[in-house]
Amino acid sequence: MAVSAEPLVSGAGPAGPAPDHSAQAALLDAGRLAEIAAQFPVLRRRIDGQPTTYLDSAATSQTPQVVIDAIVDYYANHRASVHRGVYPLIVEATELYEGARERIAAWVGWTPRETIFTANATASVNMVAHSWGRANLKTGDTVLVTEMEHHSDLVPWQLICEERGAKLAYIPVLDDGTLDLEAYEQLLELEPRLVCVSHVSNVLGTINPVAQITRRAHEAGAVVVVDGTQAVPQIPVELGEIDADFYAWSGHKTYGPTGIGVLHGRRELLEEMPPFISGGHMIKQVFEASSTWTELPGKFEAGTSQIAEAIGLGAAVDFIQGIGIESIRAHELALTEELLGRLAEFPGLHIHGPRDAQQRGALVSFALDGAHPHDIGEILGREGVCVRTGHHCAQPLMRRLDVGSTTRASFAVHNTPADIDRLMHGLGSVRRVLAL
Ligand SMILES: *Cc1c(COP(=O)(O)O)cnc(C)c1O
Repeated sequence: MAVSAEPLVSGAGPAGPAPDHSAQAALLDAGRLAEIAAQFPVLRRRIDGQPTTYLDSAATSQTPQVVIDAIVDYYANHRASVHRGVYPLIVEATELYEGARERIAAWVGWTPRETIFTANATASVNMVAHSWGRANLKTGDTVLVTEMEHHSDLVPWQLICEERGAKLAYIPVLDDGTLDLEAYEQLLELEPRLVCVSHVSNVLGTINPVAQITRRAHEAGAVVVVDGTQAVPQIPVELGEIDADFYAWSGHKTYGPTGIGVLHGRRELLEEMPPFISGGHMIKQVFEASSTWTELPGKFEAGTSQIAEAIGLGAAVDFIQGIGIESIRAHELALTEELLGRLAEFPGLHIHGPRDAQQRGALVSFALDGAHPHDIGEILGREGVCVRTGHHCAQPLMRRLDVGSTTRASFAVHNTPADIDRLMHGLGSVRRVLAL
């Protein structure tokens, strides 16, 4: 498929105020990097005799051994349900589970009581939509989302808006891959009840000025949900500074296990909200006709918890803190700068999103003239290079970019400049195989 229209590139639109995420790009030193990479067992896999070049951490990150060990340790030595008895195994399991919650919450600067474990980021957003949304949205209300949102931030609002007779409105994306903040100002005049925005776009990489967006939304009386799924693993996140009402993210993109997500919320809102999933554990008292709810966060954690998953995510946060999120950001920023530079020189290749690595998370989506992303992904895959191809769960954004799909390379802390060399070598093979 030929790319018919020029994809979004930087410099094409009026610059909004650039968010300040300034970090010094600096690769981790080679010895340290080798030590870190050695902690990821999957990176030792060879694919058709080739080393594994994993450039798809934005879809799901790989798991360091310490996380695997923490999960195995729970199953092997401490397995019991949590909060449901007093024998020693339960006490240990409960301490591991609640200890993980405390470390996870503290890491992003929030309280454990206002930190709810869910199944994934999608479940976190759905909890807000179905609980807060159902209780608060009325006919004629507006919910604001952005044109760059992941389907997880769109479809739950579509459903709840339809149910409540509310309307969905979109903050547009400028040609440089940033949000149109002037249009946002105008949309705020609609007095939206809620604004839902990604902290970092999973397609464009754009780091959105979420603190500023939140401040303006609050001034207009709206509640703010920030999807931090791509931010938490990649850039330092301080929830007190962002000041959103809800902040959602996912364990499996943050070096943690699958099956665990997080929703941080503001206590007053969480206390007012009706439960989402109901049943065991979330109640205080159950009578024949009605029930009362237990304290936060239990009110939103019905049923048996994701115990092993939460413990695994706690270990993932320890792993990140052991390296330091600032060092991870500096390392991935250096890789992103190098990748942007090398892709920009590749014939017929167009980069989506901001050109300045400082304005991006550690991922780059691109189009290659005359090559369908599916073919690019397959040819790269034969060389052991793993990239994401497809619509990235962001079909409205694909329409905005005027493409059906894109190819995306994304980094984690274990990646090296050699991974970029292998990607570029693979793109050379794409040109040869497809005779571009
Ligand atoms: C991956 C992703 C999601 C969905 O996360 P799940 O954990 O799969 O539910 C939501 N938003 C963004 C920005 C993502 O990248």
